[in-house]
Amino acid sequence: MKFPSCRFLFVTALFLPALFSRAEVNKVEQIAPEVYFHEGDIQAHGHCNNGWIVFEDYVLVIDANFPSGAQEIIPKIKAITNKPIRFAFDTHHHGDHAYGNQIWVEQGAVPVAHMGVIEEMKKYETGYYGGKPGRWEDTAKNRPDVASSKLKPPTLLYNKDMIFDDGRHRVELHYFGVAHTHGDGFVWLPKERILFTGDACVNGPYNYLADGDTGEWVKTLEAAKKLGAKVICPGHGPIGTGEVLDDQQAFIMELRKQVQNYARRKPEEVKSAVDEIKADFQRNERITRYVGNGLAGQVEKVYVEMGGKPFNNPQAAADEHWRHAAAHGRELAQRNGR
Ligand SMILES: [Zn+2]
Repeated sequence: MKFPSCRFLFVTALFLPALFSRAEVNKVEQIAPEVYFHEGDIQAHGHCNNGWIVFEDYVLVIDANFPSGAQEIIPKIKAITNKPIRFAFDTHHHGDHAYGNQIWVEQGAVPVAHMGVIEEMKKYETGYYGGKPGRWEDTAKNRPDVASSKLKPPTLLYNKDMIFDDGRHRVELHYFGVAHTHGDGFVWLPKERILFTGDACVNGPYNYLADGDTGEWVKTLEAAKKLGAKVICPGHGPIGTGEVLDDQQAFIMELRKQVQNYARRKPEEVKSAVDEIKADFQRNERITRYVGNGLAGQVEKVYVEMGGKPFNNPQAAADEHWRHAAAHGRELAQRNGR
């Protein structure tokens, strides 16, 4: 059966107001015919958000999640369709988006990603590539789901874009440049005007900056905004309207603007300004939800990008470590006694 695009828009418009007012973690949300969103439980399990599209002959899943996250949603997909899950798209290389690949492979799926994901894995997953233990091994110490699986880098790769189109659905995988990492893929559904962003755009205090570049990130979000999305499915946090992209960009821009004021100051001075910056952000309605415990680490990262020296501050380092741990599951956070 074919759905004309006007019907998509009508149904999407019908679905969304109710959807935004009752977004719920761990619950399947149908956001358009045969298009689904699932907000992962980051607090309890470090899970990312997922999406899936049911094509005529197969299912494409957005993000592999952690192995336990994959196991959480596979039965939910199977409850909706008996079509085979053929593709699992990693929006980027982080464990909470890509470590579940092996689970999807066991379902018969092929992990798909932008080339940059492989480059990032070569950099950080040194154990897999024959070097010293890398992030996988570090994460496996504290996550039984990771310990009982194995790293499976994506094998179907694209440089600029890749398109799935069976006449019924069109799904475009894009790359717009460096952002949260050096391999952030976006998933664009042009008929429904839905954009899945991975962690290049989140909806809450989940920005992890260490593997990306904030200057490039602003430009990458600008390119993504040109698509004109009506619905944003972020990497973490609830689904939202197109404005979520603007808000995410505003947070990164404001962070850069604030840090720029201190770019020539000593690390201690920048460090002691963090509370002031925080108070300022909290007064800004558009970005206040992006401000969390990791602000000191975020300020430090941008300061270093602008040529400053690291704070050499155990608290900022601990905060950054905690945020990294949060992105990789509560188990790691607990290990750090936070
Ligand atoms: Zn990430």
